[in-house]
Amino acid sequence: MAEYSKILLDESEMPTQWYNIIPDLPEPPPPPLHPGTHEPIGPDDLAPLFPMDLIMQEVTTDSYVDIPGEVLDVYKLWRPSPLYRARRLEKALDTPAKIYYKYEGVSPAGSHKPNTSVPQAYYNAKAGTKKITTETGAGQWGSSLAFATAQYGIECEVWQVAASYAQKPYRKTMMEIWGASVHPSPSDQTEAGRSLLAQDPDNPGSLGIAISEAVEAAVQDPDTKYALGSVLNHVLLHQTIIGEEALLQLAKVGDTPDVLVGCTGGGSNFAGLSFPFLREKLAGKMNPTIRCVEPAASPSLTKGEYRYDFGDTMGMTPLVKMHTLGHSFIPDPIHAGGLRYHGMAPLVSHIYELGLCEAIAIGQTECFTGAIQFAKSEGIVPAPEPTHAIAAAIREALECKESGEEKVILTALCGHGHMDMAAYDAFLSGEMVDYDHRDADIAEAMAKVPVIA
Ligand SMILES: *Cc1c(COP(=O)(O)O)cnc(C)c1O
Repeated sequence: MAEYSKILLDESEMPTQWYNIIPDLPEPPPPPLHPGTHEPIGPDDLAPLFPMDLIMQEVTTDSYVDIPGEVLDVYKLWRPSPLYRARRLEKALDTPAKIYYKYEGVSPAGSHKPNTSVPQAYYNAKAGTKKITTETGAGQWGSSLAFATAQYGIECEVWQVAASYAQKPYRKTMMEIWGASVHPSPSDQTEAGRSLLAQDPDNPGSLGIAISEAVEAAVQDPDTKYALGSVLNHVLLHQTIIGEEALLQLAKVGDTPDVLVGCTGGGSNFAGLSFPFLREKLAGKMNPTIRCVEPAASPSLTKGEYRYDFGDTMGMTPLVKMHTLGHSFIPDPIHAGGLRYHGMAPLVSHIYELGLCEAIAIGQTECFTGAIQFAKSEGIVPAPEPTHAIAAAIREALECKESGEEKVILTALCGHGHMDMAAYDAFLSGEMVDYDHRDADIAEAMAKVPVIA
């Protein structure tokens, strides 16, 4: 067989349904609770924030959801995305393992996030929403939503974590190119922001704070809704197009994965790649080890507790059962801004509790060491977040070198790092640091997590 390194699908082979894993699990995840009454919430409780089509996807028990034609048309700007066999990296590592990576950096915003921003904008436009508010950390989600809202003619207002607003001016420009307006968070635009700025005018912000601001702005205007780029069931659902395509691509070359690794911030790219493979595993058709890779500075799966907690800092969102470091925990400023979140998707947390996936945490200098090795051999410069997945894939490949096992490793390279040169600069100049575990801070934040009777 010819030496392939890029495995493509035709547009006509692109999956036309998203996959919902919940009906295939031995038990469903615990329901979200109302922040005041602690009773399970119903669809109406979410109506101020999301259009009904998305709320129904959040709670659906159907195994598959059709992707609307208007969404497929926009997906086709960059999908199907390529699957690569990392032959040059394998050679550099001198490993008998095969390493495959599904590359999501080919989207207009440069990451996997448009897989969900596009359907979210579409269902909002269909419901007559005039404006969508959101938060963004490193700027990837904000730019993905700005691109998507531009496709369907809706306004977009973004609260960007102040620290990254200052460090990553190009992401802000990208959002503005697509027509969004952008505020540094905390901002003087909301009650939540003003109260935090009164305590500390130099507050560097966090994802949890920015979520509080975007939610507050959305609930005050009936024509405005809110969108979240990760964590929720419907977001994970939309991302399964990644794994469905990867299954078809691996089938073309006759391989099945022995190990699947993905980076986890809120869990959406990991879920998107792994859930279709987990379906096959639960059906007894393959048996991959499925592993989450989180940053050592924000280790919600490996160091957090499985508890009901808020999704935001101010405690405005419903309570969701998830692995959490406490909603008031602010992770150290690692370069992988997209992984600096105190919680984890309830569905990924549930699957972890069921023993259907495992988790490890890796420090950022090991990640960037791996990223440089990857970029030198494969060419693509990874975003800081998937450097965690790459470092884990390299660990696995080096173990195969020791043991002589010819494992098939699959990972998601969920974004490129073209806007993240400051992070690479910090690494190459020797200024990047690894942060110590902050067990005391985690314990302090966990003490503020509500106790549910
Ligand atoms: C946002 C982002 C992440 C983290 O989000 P998940 O929901 O865990 O996928 C990871 N990588 C990239 C490139 C991102 O933009």
